Amino acid sequence: MDNTMYTKLGIGREVFDFCSRVLEELEPRFKEIDETAEYNQLKVINAMQKHRVNATCFAATTGYGYDDVGRDNLERVYAEVFSTEAALVRPQITCGTHALAVALSANLRPGDTLLSPVGKPYDTLEEVIGIRQSRCSLKEYGVNYRQVDLNADGSFDFEGIRSAIDDTVKLVTIQRSKGYQTRPTLSVERIGELISFIKSIRSDIICMVDNCYGEFVQKIEPSDMGADMIVGSLIKNPGGGLAPIGGYICGTKECVENCAYRLSAPGLGQEVGANLGLMPAFYQGLFMAPTVVSGALKGAVFAGLCYEKLGFRCIPNGTEDRFDIIQAVELGSRERMIAFCRGIQAAAPVDSYVTPEPWPMPGYDSDVIMAAGAFVQGSSIELSADGPIKEPYAVYFQGGLTWFHAKLGIMMSLQKLFETGEIEIGAM
Ligand SMILES: *Cc1c(COP(=O)(O)O)cnc(C)c1O
Repeated sequence: MDNTMYTKLGIGREVFDFCSRVLEELEPRFKEIDETAEYNQLKVINAMQKHRVNATCFAATTGYGYDDVGRDNLERVYAEVFSTEAALVRPQITCGTHALAVALSANLRPGDTLLSPVGKPYDTLEEVIGIRQSRCSLKEYGVNYRQVDLNADGSFDFEGIRSAIDDTVKLVTIQRSKGYQTRPTLSVERIGELISFIKSIRSDIICMVDNCYGEFVQKIEPSDMGADMIVGSLIKNPGGGLAPIGGYICGTKECVENCAYRLSAPGLGQEVGANLGLMPAFYQGLFMAPTVVSGALKGAVFAGLCYEKLGFRCIPNGTEDRFDIIQAVELGSRERMIAFCRGIQAAAPVDSYVTPEPWPMPGYDSDVIMAAGAFVQGSSIELSADGPIKEPYAVYFQGGLTWFHAKLGIMMSLQKLFETGEIEIGAM
């Protein structure tokens, strides 16, 4: 392996050799990841061919956006890829939280109960639901919330879930990714098992999956296993790094139509919403997504094994199966978190000269450090790392539009830790 460019970028011999040894071990894992990416690439191509994607789909529309051929066809392509009856894929959905808020508020009515059978949902949803007091929350509109935590070993509390389901439970929300928690990410198979159980109690309960960070990590999606709605952000996996904004909701015709009325207005629904010239990015991003996700996954696996070998606790560990693209590394000290993030930043194509510093952030009870140098601001399918500066001093690392960039980011993080004397790299 030629290390000329690595040397030029500041990676020393010790880190380079260490990483080369780790990579040899990862060959079989990478082969598996490539096989999944290949399958999903074909799935996307098949959907695009079936729905006869052509140049007219890429035309920009403005204003009301009536008869927007490209937008309507993109929604058919998404529905095909995710095996659902319908899809809503729009730049007017501003982020993942917005998509989830639309899906929930469109399908719940006053007096209904929302149930999370997998513990606490993602932070931003606390305000959407009203777990944390917030204006315009579902709670303010009379929607109740109930939660059943996972068992200590990460398994589902089936009895607890059964007793939480009464006649008022209308919708169940299942978060696939661990997000910023320490519980394991749910595989699609486990989500399927949970959905079957819920449907066996009452088949009319709507099962929604927060699919953020999970798309294209496996060959199947939660909608292949009975989910009535799956929801996510286009500046994560399915936008392939090219979508500059947007969200999607795929699901049953009934659920998706409700979402369209909620997103625009009663009576208008899916018919309005100009595409503003974003169709090329949305189509091409979806086309790229399986490969982009595979690069991010390789980065996560590589980071996991490198840091595990250096004695740090990694979640998931270096050998576990992965069901999302997030890697947590418990670095155990403030100094190491800073060095790690500075390495990620130094490897970026954008803003590489910026030095990340810990900083107080609204909603956090400690300083937070972040590293990101992205083409699309805030995009977390691009290489980024962050974490609160407190016990256990864990950084969350995700993304990378290409495997080689993810690799450089991790090598650079190791280099910064090595240079500041925070790690020792010896012979393995
Ligand atoms: C990112 C994320 C969200 C929220 O998405 P935003 O685009 O940041 O609003 C919700 N749930 C999970 C699991 C996520 O990872």
